[in-house]
Amino acid sequence: MNARRPPNPKTARAKAKPAASRDAIVSLLDKTLRTSEISDRSVNGLQVEGVSEVARVGLAVDACLEAYKLAHAKGCQMVIAHHGIIWEGIKSIRGPLYRQIEFLVKSGVSLYASHLPLDLHPTLGNNARIAKALGLKNIAPFGVYRGGCIGFEGSFPAPVTLKSVADLVKKRFGGPTSALPFGPPKIRRAAIISGGGTAALPEAIEKKIDLFVTGESSHENHHAALEGKINVVYGGHYHTEKPGVIALGEFLNKKFGIDAVFLDVPTMV
Ligand SMILES: [Zn+2]
Repeated sequence: MNARRPPNPKTARAKAKPAASRDAIVSLLDKTLRTSEISDRSVNGLQVEGVSEVARVGLAVDACLEAYKLAHAKGCQMVIAHHGIIWEGIKSIRGPLYRQIEFLVKSGVSLYASHLPLDLHPTLGNNARIAKALGLKNIAPFGVYRGGCIGFEGSFPAPVTLKSVADLVKKRFGGPTSALPFGPPKIRRAAIISGGGTAALPEAIEKKIDLFVTGESSHENHHAALEGKINVVYGGHYHTEKPGVIALGEFLNKKFGIDAVFLDVPTMV
């Protein structure tokens, strides 16, 4: 019955979703994340330009066809990804990269990428969010890389066990969590690098940190951790890098009132 009634323009207007301009979103993200200041292999910022008005953004860990299709089906005009598609420039546009760009251009969906700027951001970043979830205090920068620090270290208010931290990481981030129990049984200090952060293990050993938390495991870390007498928790590359993009969605929702949806396309790592 209602379907036959002509739409009431007043109601239609009242129900219109708030939208923001693509350029306003990009410039706010660039400024907040200090995109141009941070040295990275990823070419951070707007990688593919879509339509000019954005009412809904999709947040993804990885730029991939599956995420774009999900974004388009959910009515997103922009995808914000932690791992974008342009790393150290473009050498050719063919194969899978061609098909990704083709889909984005045809659907009008923008792609914005933020790799290290999002890892290291003090409130919205992956590592800050993990530190907060673990309840760390006295947070300080950790993980020297390309002239800056991309992670954080901090102390627990009271000593914790490796199992309790591993269980918390699993519960909060949902990844395939594993642990190396080679450090002190009472853990007071932890250092965090989300994703593929195993290269920072020597720094954690050097600083006599009790526990190193990262995403992806590494075969060579085993003996390094054993001999360095340090505990390690691996929370999964994908899963430890969800918090940053989710935080960006909440941030844009607060700033512009636009919808933000997480595009959950997990990898097996
Ligand atoms: Zn990563």
